Amino acid sequence: MSWISVRKLSSPVLFVVLALLVRKHVDSLQPAYKDLLHYIPYLSLSIVIVLSVYYNRARLLCATLTLLFIFYLIQNYLQTTLSNQHTMLIYTTISVLHPLYLLSLLFLPERGLRNRHGMLLIAGLLGLCIGFWFVFNNYALFLSEIVVQWFRVKPVSGLVLSFSASAMYLLLIFICGLVFYRQSDEFAIVIISVALFSFITLAKLDLAYISAVMFIGASVSLIVGILGSSYDMAYRDELTGLLGRRALNDRLKGLGRHYVIAMMDIDHFKKFNDTHGHDIGDEVLKMVAQQIARVDGGGTAYRYGGEEFCVIFSNRDMEYAEPYLEDVRLDIQDYEMRLRNNAERAKNGEEAKQRRGRRARDRNTVRVSVTISIGMAEPDENNRKPDEVLKAADQALYKAKKKGRNCLAS
Ligand code: GH3
Ligand code: MG
Ligand code: MG
Repeated sequence: MSWISVRKLSSPVLFVVLALLVRKHVDSLQPAYKDLLHYIPYLSLSIVIVLSVYYNRARLLCATLTLLFIFYLIQNYLQTTLSNQHTMLIYTTISVLHPLYLLSLLFLPERGLRNRHGMLLIAGLLGLCIGFWFVFNNYALFLSEIVVQWFRVKPVSGLVLSFSASAMYLLLIFICGLVFYRQSDEFAIVIISVALFSFITLAKLDLAYISAVMFIGASVSLIVGILGSSYDMAYRDELTGLLGRRALNDRLKGLGRHYVIAMMDIDHFKKFNDTHGHDIGDEVLKMVAQQIARVDGGGTAYRYGGEEFCVIFSNRDMEYAEPYLEDVRLDIQDYEMRLRNNAERAKNGEEAKQRRGRRARDRNTVRVSVTISIGMAEPDENNRKPDEVLKAADQALYKAKKKGRNCLAS
């Protein structure tokens, strides 16, 4: 798992810890500010709602609307003791329906808001809220009996939420973690955030100001997530996850007087694509990008475009950068990728189905490897500006290609 993924996964936890620390100090606030705390979540969640509409994200909007609805219920119906039948019923229904609803959102495809699917999603949520209201007003007594038995609140001291509901929230967070790990679906992080904050609110509902602080925390966490993904959209290359051309241009503007720019290009990649297909080409590009991103010595990797990459070392010279660049070149040269040979598999369709096991898999995989050429340059009397140095690195790359490829030139 990459460093960026670990950072994204851990950010909701960090915000929860921060919110818990903030809550400890709420008591020292002046009464007027404490009162204000109960209104801030409405404002902060509204900001998330506006952003999700602006970015056309239907699932994020629905997840945030659930938070807004739950906060409204907590503030208006859950301020009395849980031994009150109605309070208990609302509390338990939220704690059961919320993780289930979030789970269904996780597995629904994101198709934007301003279309039939988006409208249906919002209508579904509205229907659920109206249904909740209707059932609560008409069948409260009957439901209470079931709920009290199945979801015993305060099962142990320090935990208000029933074991079953706690398990549902934790299972949901675990599933989201898996989905993020396997599919890199960023919405899983949104759900982790929403689930974690509402789980802690419900589990510790007896703590003063817990819902206000937690729901502000949830909004901040979601807003930071939205800003982070818009940064990624603008600055990161979608295929490889590396910083892209826009980030490189920004970096070039801020370079000091001493730096090294290295340009890298995959050798004979056109031929590689022709032989193995564009999809396998894309997989190889990702692998190459991963290796380049691991460059040591303080270098930062960028995807320059196509199958060309760029690495920048600030405050360093070529003598320093060369061994690190050579390491990258050797790592790529030695890396053998085992890829599924889809064409072969299609040809032998039925036969392949029957041949299970390792030998069959081996027959259906191709081992591929590629090499890269590198050109590097640093500022000198002929090339003073970063874009001139970049051109010089490009010319050095051309030299490396002429020298026979899979080598470094300056
Ligand atoms: P050379 O050793 O001289 O670099 O030969 P080359 O064939 O690699 O030549 P060049 O660098 O001009 O090739 C660029 C090729 O890279 C063209 C295109 O097929 C391939 N390419 C560029 N971007 C992508 C991409 O995003 N995915 C895939 N699969 N291929 C790409
Ligand atoms: Mg090229
Ligand atoms: Mg090339």
